Amino acid sequence: MKIKRAFLKRPWLLLILLSLILAGGGIAARSVSTPEKTLNNAASVRIPNVIEGFWGFVDICFDGIRPSKEQKMYNKLTPEEERIIIYKGTERPFSGKYDKHFEKGVYTCKRCDAELFESSSKFNSHCGWPSFDDQIGKSVKRIRDADGVRTEILCANCDGHLGHVFTGERLTPKNTRYCVNSISMSFVPAKKQKTNRAIFASGCFWGTEYHFKRAAGVISTTVGYTGGKIDNPTYKQVCTDKTGHAEAVEVIFDPAKTTYEKLAKLYFETHDFTQLNRQGPDIGTQYRSAIFYLDEQQKQVAEKLVRELRKKRYNVKTEIVSATKFWPAELYHQDYYQKTGKTPYCHIYRKIF
Ligand SMILES: [Zn+2]
Repeated sequence: MKIKRAFLKRPWLLLILLSLILAGGGIAARSVSTPEKTLNNAASVRIPNVIEGFWGFVDICFDGIRPSKEQKMYNKLTPEEERIIIYKGTERPFSGKYDKHFEKGVYTCKRCDAELFESSSKFNSHCGWPSFDDQIGKSVKRIRDADGVRTEILCANCDGHLGHVFTGERLTPKNTRYCVNSISMSFVPAKKQKTNRAIFASGCFWGTEYHFKRAAGVISTTVGYTGGKIDNPTYKQVCTDKTGHAEAVEVIFDPAKTTYEKLAKLYFETHDFTQLNRQGPDIGTQYRSAIFYLDEQQKQVAEKLVRELRKKRYNVKTEIVSATKFWPAELYHQDYYQKTGKTPYCHIYRKIF
């Protein structure tokens, strides 16, 4: 009775007690999700998850009794991965690494490595998240979303949150779109090929990448900065013309299907190598023509081609220098022409060799 009267006299006391209970629940909910902490026996109850700011329900566990399914060691997740996979968050559209990723291979669960989707079922839905029209076997589980409208999808093995599934949109013949957070998945390439690497700079890297991306035998391209004085520069820093970096493209190619010489010829045939520190309207050292060779063989090929060009009376301004660290550029610069559907304003192909 005394306690009851105390609360009646001081209602704020009750408020403090209530928030203590709820905050405690929230913290417990967070800690049980960490794989290392799910090994004890515990029972599962459902309480409101206040930490995430909405009244969805999450399972929390108490030491003592615990479903045997949870007695597994899962991959350690970063806080951002936990936010999506454990707390059913959503990554920003167009921000995930697999949104525009179309390599051959298998997408697996980030938390437990279970195989979820084949790359052959992936399609571009333009929604901003990786989209698949089929799953591997029974790897993906469907439940009614907490919003009561959508259908949530989970990894059937570890219950990690993947995203949502939509049907009836007629986007592919299977009429199904698994809309998945990139961060919920890992990617395992179809087969480990033997690859080689090359780095070329020929003015604005959007145009350089445009041509290499289309070349036979090229596996992937990345635009970035190299040959400068500071680590991990931003585009803004490079544009000051003070860091010494050149806009460049890293080309990963299959030596069974093409050669460094073929790629180096394409390089010369797609820019004006007689211009010093500029390409058309782009002026500054970041737009210089430069080959960053990675070994002696690449150096010799580059020097041979320059000799050939000089014989053809070209005044070659291309630098041939030993490669230093290549820093990938910001995401919005990657695959620029592919994303925008535009074509380069300079970097026009012309046959020379
Ligand atoms: Zn899983």
